[in-house]
Amino acid sequence: MQVIKDARALESTLQAPRRAGKRIGLVPTMGALHAGHGSLVKAARSRCDVVVATVFVNPTQFGPTEDLEAYPRDTEGDRFKLESWGCDILFMPQDSDVYPLGLDGVRIQPPAALVSGLCGPRRPGHFAGVLTVVLKLLNLARPHMAFFGQKDFQQWRVIQHMAADLLTGVEIVRCPTVRETDGLAMSSRNAYLAPEERARALVLSRTLAAVLDRFRTGERNSEALRVAAMQAWQNFNDGEASPPQLEYLEVVDAGTLAPVPEIGAEGVAAIAARLGKARLIDNVLLAEDSADLALLSASRGTLFSRLA
Ligand code: AMP
Repeated sequence: MQVIKDARALESTLQAPRRAGKRIGLVPTMGALHAGHGSLVKAARSRCDVVVATVFVNPTQFGPTEDLEAYPRDTEGDRFKLESWGCDILFMPQDSDVYPLGLDGVRIQPPAALVSGLCGPRRPGHFAGVLTVVLKLLNLARPHMAFFGQKDFQQWRVIQHMAADLLTGVEIVRCPTVRETDGLAMSSRNAYLAPEERARALVLSRTLAAVLDRFRTGERNSEALRVAAMQAWQNFNDGEASPPQLEYLEVVDAGTLAPVPEIGAEGVAAIAARLGKARLIDNVLLAEDSADLALLSASRGTLFSRLA
């Protein structure tokens, strides 16, 4: 695996494969890599000839009170993992490569409708920072495909919208959420959790499993699904001295991210909560062939004994 630290070197390295008609796959990350990132690299490996992963902690997507400085960094570990997942090029740009005119430059704004709910109102400016860095990375690597995780569903959706609306020609691929065996969605921010917080964090995925289970029994009414989710959340936290602080628990249409009375072809139930120093998010797809069905078996046992 080649490690490239500046934009010019990336351009010249990709020149030959591009000319030879090779398909380039891009996997943007902020590092502190785990198997969730690994699944994106492997998906890119299976669909592209050249796999480029980027590790760049993007300052413009962090709010003033967020964890930019504390964000976990593990350059050596990342390098080792990427190599083992079959990555060809690790691109680790400097701020000056990505923001040559400084951090106060142009911002790509998502459509208001896609950020009026979920993380949008809680993280003002976040998705503009995400879209800006992703467009810059697409411009630097000029891939055929770029791979993102369902774990950050709203992020994937705004990126997909931007890529289409700005005529980038890049295919934006959504890969399923990778979870720990007990159901917790993998996240670099899980590193912030103390052991007892790690145990309590399971309430997010279990709440979502309860909603998915309700959906599978035929419930399509969004409000009924949301009420079931809230009940599950409260049951799981019952008796806990310091439960996670719920930020939101929403059931929306997967395409528009807007509330709808009934879930149509595809819905999404999404949750965000604070636990100690960590802000955790997770979601499940509400669809007949939901990619999250495995979560039900991971959560069974504790889920149904506590709901009973
Ligand atoms: P991050 O490094 O957290 O910015 O994430 C980089 C990419 O990895 C994003 O597209 C995320 O959605 C994706 N990702 C993060 N966690 C997971 C996970 N548990 N499963 C699948 N993809 C993930």
